[in-house]
Amino acid sequence: MKLLKCILTENDCYKTGRTIKPQGVMVHSTGANNANLRRYVQPAASTPGQEELLTALGTNLNANHWNRPGLDVCVHGFVGRLADGSVAAVQTLPWNRRGWHAGTGTSGKSANDTHISFEICEDSLTDPVYFQQAYRTAAELTAALCRNFGLDPMGDGVVICHQDGYRRGTASNHGDIYNWFPRFGLNMNDFRAEVARIMSGESEEDEMVYYKNLADVPEYYQHAVAKAVDRGALNGTGEGELNVSEDLCRTLTVLDRLGKLD
Ligand SMILES: [Zn+2]
Repeated sequence: MKLLKCILTENDCYKTGRTIKPQGVMVHSTGANNANLRRYVQPAASTPGQEELLTALGTNLNANHWNRPGLDVCVHGFVGRLADGSVAAVQTLPWNRRGWHAGTGTSGKSANDTHISFEICEDSLTDPVYFQQAYRTAAELTAALCRNFGLDPMGDGVVICHQDGYRRGTASNHGDIYNWFPRFGLNMNDFRAEVARIMSGESEEDEMVYYKNLADVPEYYQHAVAKAVDRGALNGTGEGELNVSEDLCRTLTVLDRLGKLD
């Protein structure tokens, strides 16, 4: 996982300086078709590494990012596309800052007081490759946070999404992430299990098998991978090389079975 740091110091949420003792992680998705991190995350003039961050993120010319005063929302991180198109995570608040992401639930309580939060930038919700990359990065970020704060991702109410929070009475009634994950056959139980798997070291990045070209891909994956290439959903390195992981091959094969690549 690529993890950048660009704290939104101009956001009023940051400026309040209130802190929490993190007891969980709340996953959000943005609800808008824009997968680019630069839509939400931009460094201020005073941000350490401002130039490098701008190069990595790309410049938001619409001035509607979240690193400015007057907004009533702020999260601890984002998952989305960098300027080069790759998917990364970026930290946008100190992890123990009290975020503004959950609103208040029917119990009168708020996950703002208990949960670290991040937004996954939504695209059109139809691209299986972006979904797989964003889902994986979100799971890796959650695993890292659970490790840092000694949290059990399978514990009751620990790793939840915004809609889970609503059902538990600790967040406003937003649908995320159930507007997205189920389109690719996954839900928050799958996500929690993926986080636990990553934490137990079962799916270490360096153990992952990569295939350079379509010809190197095992026959049982080839049909689905070729379909993804045909659809333009898989471009590889741009020099005729795919460099596709076995993990992604497997995901594409499942998606193909679900008819998602047609
Ligand atoms: Zn949300």
